[in-house]
Amino acid sequence: MVLPRVIQNLIDEFSKLPSVGPRQAARFVFYLLNQSKEETEKFAKKLFVLKKIKYCSFCNRAMESTATHLCDICKNKDRDRATICVVEKDTDIESLEKTKRYNGLYYVIGTEDEKKQLERLKTLIEKIKKSSKKIGEIIIATDATTEGETIALYAARQLAELKKAYPELKITRLGRGLSTGSELEYMDEDTLTNALLGRK
Ligand SMILES: [Zn+2]
Repeated sequence: MVLPRVIQNLIDEFSKLPSVGPRQAARFVFYLLNQSKEETEKFAKKLFVLKKIKYCSFCNRAMESTATHLCDICKNKDRDRATICVVEKDTDIESLEKTKRYNGLYYVIGTEDEKKQLERLKTLIEKIKKSSKKIGEIIIATDATTEGETIALYAARQLAELKKAYPELKITRLGRGLSTGSELEYMDEDTLTNALLGRK
């Protein structure tokens, strides 16, 4: 069966999304096709405004477009500014925040590609060097997947440069009570709390 081109085009687009195969993509498209015109327009509008999102100038977290350059976490005076937790993506911040056991700052390095991650790590190093505030600890909180492990080792190597200038700086990683293959965003709060408290 050959589908009308507009439908096939949209299926192809949805198929590009992470973890979405062509069959699931087709289900999405036919679902949308059966929605009212108003519903579809609302959906399209939400997609459209997505690109208006801004990024925090310190931690790279996505935030509402506001007059400030910092997100609500970076702006919050009650947060511990001497601790920075390096994560891969924004949703990892949500997971760590839910544990209510972490009160430091975050830094998102992204998952796009190694080059971008390296750039972001370098930017973080520069920011720390330029900052008048002393950083006591950097926690590397990546997924317990092969990919996450690679990023963690890579980040530790890059950040080790800072240890020369700041010998008392601690670079830690989440406790390895995490089962192999687990991603931060799917971890329950207890597991994540233990990983956070067991960091070394
Ligand atoms: Zn921020």
